[in-house]
Amino acid sequence: MGGEGPREACGLFGVWAPGEDVARLTYFGLFSLQHRGQESAGMAVSDGERILVYRELGLVSQVFDERTLATLQGNLCIGHTRYSTTGSTTWDNAQPSFKTNGQRGLALGHNGNLVNTAELAGIAGRRGPATTDSDLVAAMLARQLDRGLEAAALEVLPLLSGAFSFVLMDERTVFGARDPHGIRPLAIGRLPSGYCLASETCALDVVGATYVREVEPGELVSIDDRGIRSMPYAEPPRQALCLFEFVYLARADSRMYGRSVHETRREMGRRLAGESPADADLVIPIPDTGFSAAQGFAEGSGIPFGEGVIKNRYIGRTFIEPTPALRQRGVKLKLNSLPEAIRGKRLVVVDDSIVRGTTTRQIVQMLRDAGAAEIHLRIVSPPIRWPCFYGIDMSTRQELIAAGSAVEDVRVFVGADSLAYLSLEALVASTRAPKAAFCRACFDGEYPISVGEEEPSKFVLETL
Ligand code: SF4
Repeated sequence: MGGEGPREACGLFGVWAPGEDVARLTYFGLFSLQHRGQESAGMAVSDGERILVYRELGLVSQVFDERTLATLQGNLCIGHTRYSTTGSTTWDNAQPSFKTNGQRGLALGHNGNLVNTAELAGIAGRRGPATTDSDLVAAMLARQLDRGLEAAALEVLPLLSGAFSFVLMDERTVFGARDPHGIRPLAIGRLPSGYCLASETCALDVVGATYVREVEPGELVSIDDRGIRSMPYAEPPRQALCLFEFVYLARADSRMYGRSVHETRREMGRRLAGESPADADLVIPIPDTGFSAAQGFAEGSGIPFGEGVIKNRYIGRTFIEPTPALRQRGVKLKLNSLPEAIRGKRLVVVDDSIVRGTTTRQIVQMLRDAGAAEIHLRIVSPPIRWPCFYGIDMSTRQELIAAGSAVEDVRVFVGADSLAYLSLEALVASTRAPKAAFCRACFDGEYPISVGEEEPSKFVLETL
């Protein structure tokens, strides 16, 4: 998709480790989860007595500096990077959310999207200022905080429907929780003096933590001076990890279901070469997510692998609007071609997915302008035909080019000489996990959690 989206949906980190600089560990954990959300970053830290929260719009490296980190001293910390799937991009909606009942406080970071927000707003009987489902959950927990955060969480979590991984904390304890289907990931790591939680294992690696296990679907874990304790709060109906984590969301150096994301993508590329071969001179990836799969395609096809497109690694999310003239250059702000490498060549171009199709079309045009003789587009996921209601920002069918079009129509729209997608069977087989272990709804329309008649709106709480 070459940067067009779907947009990612939040990175979580939590740590309980007395004697460590927990804010600094959280900073580096969030830094390696930056790909999961680039609109805002924040952390909450506690010294055992009080919780301090710092959050701001921007990238992790823009939000925090040495001076801020020096003020965030304590034994436990949670952190969050956000891409908005519910609510607008405003400071109020940045996380962690913080609530207090006057005596005790709690902070919460959320990855995912709830599908019964309107119902929950009725139960909580409150409105704003923040307009996220995450803030609503924090408010529900705060109402029960007299009994302690653990009891409050065990009361509130079963009321929630949808996709959620949470990191939570009060003054002394860090908690992690996953929804009963385990749609969004959350892993546990061990440190010399404690434990940490992270959306992806790449964040455990960066802080020197050893992978222990994943938080189980329907499980609440607590981490404090009593060690790590597990409190299942719901019977997992069926596990349904988001299949899109393997396609696009997760970083290639992370592991999910015990399987390397890089190796999975490589196998996806090899299988795609078998399913949909092309007569070509060079296989090129659309960076960054296309790399592993393009390598696999080259291995499977025997066609040489090379670079033909370079990504601006530092683009992140800019808050500076380009001038209209710059915007017309569109994709070139993020990606540029290498004419010397591709001129006169028949290319296999490997990308992870096509959502709206507009960026893919610009990339194809850019490659033609650079002199490519033929462009054979190979996509290492099936067509995205159904919206996602669980936290990935592709929530209406209208915005999905494959929803109402045949593959041939998509090919014509993007302007490629040929276009082929990986089959769902081959994608799932590449993960080495069974099909039933995944949410695959955006590909096959089988939603693991009912979303009712109405498609939830991203701004539901703003319209209440
Ligand atoms: S619908 Fe697609 S993107 Fe959304 S959670 Fe399911 S697999 Fe992931």
